[in-house]
Amino acid sequence: MKPVLDQTHDSKAQSWVESANLAGADFPIQNLPFGVFRRHAAAEAKVGVAIGDRILDLDGMQNEGLLAEQSERLAANACAFDSLNQLMALGAGPRRALRRRIHAALHRDAPASDRQSASRHLVAQADVDMLLPAVVRDYTDFYASIFHATNVGKLFRPDNPLLPNYKYIPIGYHGRASSLVVTGTPIRRPCGQTREGDADPKFGPTTALDYELELGFFVGAGNHLGEPIPIGAAEEHIFGVCLVNDWSARDIQAWEYQPLGPFLGKSFATSLSPWVVTIEALAPFRTSAFARAQGDPAPLPYLFDQSDQEHGGLDLWLEVSLLSPRMREAGIDPVVLGRSNFRDLYWTMAQMLAHHASNGCNLRAGDLLASGTVSGADKTARGCLLELTSRGKDPVTLPTGEQRKFLHDGDEIILQGFCERDGFRRIGLGSCRGTILPASAT
Ligand code: MN
Repeated sequence: MKPVLDQTHDSKAQSWVESANLAGADFPIQNLPFGVFRRHAAAEAKVGVAIGDRILDLDGMQNEGLLAEQSERLAANACAFDSLNQLMALGAGPRRALRRRIHAALHRDAPASDRQSASRHLVAQADVDMLLPAVVRDYTDFYASIFHATNVGKLFRPDNPLLPNYKYIPIGYHGRASSLVVTGTPIRRPCGQTREGDADPKFGPTTALDYELELGFFVGAGNHLGEPIPIGAAEEHIFGVCLVNDWSARDIQAWEYQPLGPFLGKSFATSLSPWVVTIEALAPFRTSAFARAQGDPAPLPYLFDQSDQEHGGLDLWLEVSLLSPRMREAGIDPVVLGRSNFRDLYWTMAQMLAHHASNGCNLRAGDLLASGTVSGADKTARGCLLELTSRGKDPVTLPTGEQRKFLHDGDEIILQGFCERDGFRRIGLGSCRGTILPASAT
């Protein structure tokens, strides 16, 4: 589906919330991502929209009577909960109407009455805790970066890095939803079963803890069991995107994964950024799908849609940084370990979603699909340590001179993401952070 541009994408639009107009701000008036927040010391969690360093409380907006039109009201009523699931379930129409209305109310040229009403419901982001944006009942992780799949494949099968199904199937596995956590939640080093060479397997803390730089996308309106989602309609079922760190214990994973795939090496924790950038906000940054190499098979018809080929890609930069305890003590900034772009994925979001539902599996509002590690062709574009250090063979050196094959206790991993394109306002995804805690005593 061709992305629709409207007045909410006007690069010249500014907000009367001045922090939204700063160059490099993640949340200008063109972004308007949704999230769930709780004021410090308050009991109630609420749905809000980020604008600059503030949050617009949508329940408050609704009570002001600012949302008068029917589809705006429908969307606003769905925001009177402690998760985005109801808003997600409504599908695209009401969400778009709400976006246009919020844009108008926060615009520098908004009528004084809009401005007065909205300003009564602005909360400083510094005064809240962010919560998980949705109640995620199912989480699926894909493997859509051919660069990641090839680099990892080479470590295990130098002669035959890419398995024969890769160019036909968006490969995925069913992840664990209960251990999804919001940014800032500490990550306990997991224990598990590992085996070194021919030695006896043992149980203990992982010594190969890794991050995975990913983009997640939330399902909006779902589908009924037994009714696939055609590829041409798939985009209409996507609500928006967030950053995902799919923490991985490589030694546990390597020993357990055959024949049924990842399990405890992944399920101990997955971190999410709290702001969901809507598919509408991403419209200016859509691009063509990945150009397949000559000789690669065309996608099968159920994964092929002309419009998806033309607009299904997304020009979105992802970045992962590390801050070690010694760097923190010395006041050194986090060091960037990888920078990659979502447009380099072999499969589009629509193809992943259509494939997921192609057997009749029902997707539900708030389900999370993630891309898999996003890597690129370049050595600077590796989305995990497994790739970057060639499974620990080539450690990375930090600004303090410390080396890392895998993560140490106290290390903090920071994911960031943003879109920029000439003629449009840059928008950001915020950040997704997590610090490693020592393992529990075994
Ligand atoms: Mn992953």
